[in-house]
Amino acid sequence: MQWTDISRLTLIAVLFSSHSTLGALYQRLSGLPPNVSALLMISKAQAVALEQWKATRTGPMVTGGLNQVLWLRIPDDSPTWDTYPDPSVDKLAPHVELVVTNHAGFGAGGLISIGLAVTAPLARGSVALASSNPLAAHLIDPGFLTNSYDHHAMLAAPGTGISEVHASPYAPETIDDDEEVLKMLKNITSTVWHPVGTLAMSNKGAKWGVVDPDLKVKGLSGLRVVDASIMPFIPGADTMAPVSYAIAEARAI
Ligand SMILES: Cc1cc2nc3c(=O)[nH]c(=O)nc-3n(C[C@H](O)[C@H](O)[C@H](O)COP(=O)(O)OP(=O)(O)OC[C@H]3O[C@@H](n4cnc5c(N)ncnc54)[C@H](O)[C@@H]3O)c2cc1C
Repeated sequence: MQWTDISRLTLIAVLFSSHSTLGALYQRLSGLPPNVSALLMISKAQAVALEQWKATRTGPMVTGGLNQVLWLRIPDDSPTWDTYPDPSVDKLAPHVELVVTNHAGFGAGGLISIGLAVTAPLARGSVALASSNPLAAHLIDPGFLTNSYDHHAMLAAPGTGISEVHASPYAPETIDDDEEVLKMLKNITSTVWHPVGTLAMSNKGAKWGVVDPDLKVKGLSGLRVVDASIMPFIPGADTMAPVSYAIAEARAI
């Protein structure tokens, strides 16, 4: 392939999408019995736990980083839908993912954290060339929270089917002001590492998109792309097992 072809492709591939957000919504720093989080702050206890795991595959080290994952829908009667159309693909598809952990990811100490990801985000980022040097890093802007629906989804999410959290010792110091909550969320927003869509698939005749439904690059011959980049929109799911493998398997046949 010629370099001119590559720059053409990159120019086309200006949009991408990712599950946009992850941050600790609830943290309890005191008043909890010691948990794995507290244990891992003590190097000697950590070493003992590691030895136990090596010897018997038991003990605190058995726990994975993330203990529970909840995929939830914002209720049908949420005021969010007065302003926004439902971006999820199906009535069973989630709007948000909550990730519960008692040690990894969102800090350390005697705490429980719940991370929040918007699973049907409408914000789109971009990827562009920074220079004509092919080895130079690209300009990557994830565009997180640049669509106001995503704000609403984040703000609506804490009240979504997790009343047990509000009612439990894990309930946070309450911040009632939406603007304050949004400011906090913007400060702690990061990626869930699911970027897609830089080489979006579209219909054969469509003016947008980079590959056709056979995953052949439009306007070129002899070049297919088979990976997560061809997803036109981010699915309401993690991107490896259900989607990247499925795309690869479908194209391998
Ligand atoms: C930290 C992290 C955690 C994740 N957790 C999950 C999860 O729990 N569940 C889930 O479903 N998904 C998860 N994902 C997302 C998932 O890994 C991706 O969606 C998936 O790997 C995308 O597959 P891909 O084939 O498009 O790209 P990749 O898996 O990134 O494959 C691209 C390959 O191309 C190779 N490559 C790059 N440049 C060149 C080059 N110039 N020449 C030759 N080879 C090259 C790379 O080495 C790599 O092997 C996670 C991602 C990250 C980063």
